[in-house]
Amino acid sequence: MSQITNHLPTAELQVLDAAHHLHPFTDGDALNAKGVRIITRADGAVLTDSEGLEMLDGMAGLWCVNIGYGRPELAQVAADQMRQLPYYNTFFQTTHIPALALAARIAEVAPEGMDHVFYAGSGSEANDTNIRLVRHYWASQGKPDKRIIISRRNGYHGSTMGSASLGGMSGMHAQGGLPIPDIEHIGQPFWYGEGGDTDPQDFGLARARELEAKIAELGEDNVAAFIAEPIQGAGGVIIPPESYWPEIQRICDQHEILLIADEVICGFGRTGEWFGCQALNIRPDIMTIAKGLTSGYQPLGGSIVRKEVAEAINAAGEFAHGYTYSGHPVAAAVALENLRILEEDGIITHAREVAAPYLAEKWATLADHPMVDDARTFGMLGGLQLTPDKSARAKFKADVGTVGLRCRERCFGNGLVMRHVGDRMIISPPLILTPAQIDTLVERAWQSIDETFLAVRRDGLFEAM
Ligand SMILES: *Cc1c(COP(=O)(O)O)cnc(C)c1O
Repeated sequence: MSQITNHLPTAELQVLDAAHHLHPFTDGDALNAKGVRIITRADGAVLTDSEGLEMLDGMAGLWCVNIGYGRPELAQVAADQMRQLPYYNTFFQTTHIPALALAARIAEVAPEGMDHVFYAGSGSEANDTNIRLVRHYWASQGKPDKRIIISRRNGYHGSTMGSASLGGMSGMHAQGGLPIPDIEHIGQPFWYGEGGDTDPQDFGLARARELEAKIAELGEDNVAAFIAEPIQGAGGVIIPPESYWPEIQRICDQHEILLIADEVICGFGRTGEWFGCQALNIRPDIMTIAKGLTSGYQPLGGSIVRKEVAEAINAAGEFAHGYTYSGHPVAAAVALENLRILEEDGIITHAREVAAPYLAEKWATLADHPMVDDARTFGMLGGLQLTPDKSARAKFKADVGTVGLRCRERCFGNGLVMRHVGDRMIISPPLILTPAQIDTLVERAWQSIDETFLAVRRDGLFEAM
């Protein structure tokens, strides 16, 4: 059996990578100057690199390895499916068992009425599908002018032209001529960072009402949909005030705007329910899925579409859209097995009843550190703010992200993968973490934050702007 061998010393692998591999979301020269980290294996929640160093994966890969690494059942299912039918398309009046079985299973676990699935290869592709789908839907209803999609600044919906336009990441919009036309952005419900001295619930309402104001400005007859993550992930694990979502729901219902919940992170147990919509009591028309759908073992994304919308699409002739790998049989078979394991091993129940409550309690203790504020979780998502002055919610006397990046480096050194977004530290670990592993995670986080704190003080950065 041929295998990609791993007998070269790390330094030689790094040279090869630097010579031939362009990395996503990476400053290439900066990376190559220091040498890339090479992950060689993983089991449960623990990664091993090419130097044999073990790290607790506080990010579940990229928010996706919900069931943890190393489940042999998924490897078996993939191998079996490859032998029986490695590929066939779903375009020309054909289907295959994995695609149809997975769609039926997703319809079972999705909220009432969300019963059709359009497959894509990733979350980005699925959101591109959503742009075309909602516009096609409104055209089919005799309302072709309902084209504009409203989304949020600092939201993340993917990296293709369409999905990055939906996203509100200013760094992404600065490159390559984004956003595309007919996408509009409103503010995010980030009270800690943008709420100033207002009450959080008032702020949540105010940010939701920006949607109503934007609809009024554009004209209801021109707006197709609003898209948002139930809990923002890549923007910094931003948990909206409780007042926010009910008001968004009211506005979408009242103004006949389709609501797209981007569940790419929140779906498949991350919040302690199958979907973030269920945890937050949101009633979407479309849900974007990817990541935890396969626990990252295969690339797969999709859109779960409400019955009425799907029936209108079916009744509107040919929807001229699709991907070669829509519903790929190996990916779909792996997803089905992943959903089986999530259910039968009680992993979502474990997340909801054991891991998430314990994580919430332990994570909150990090706020006892003099440099930490806003240490909160929602399900198995956690965020905290590094600040030199909690009382003022102040920023450091350094470029935003300087201290966060240092903290992330310290985490790696201490055997923990934790990500930074600016000067926020965030986690999204596998759902299978035991209380003992949560203790380890929080201990390593504290130690890393404390080492960062000492270094930052030494360098004169522990001062407010
Ligand atoms: C990761 C992510 C995407 C994009 O998914 P890809 O599979 O990377 O294309 C879309 N939306 C959200 C909320 C995400 O976190």
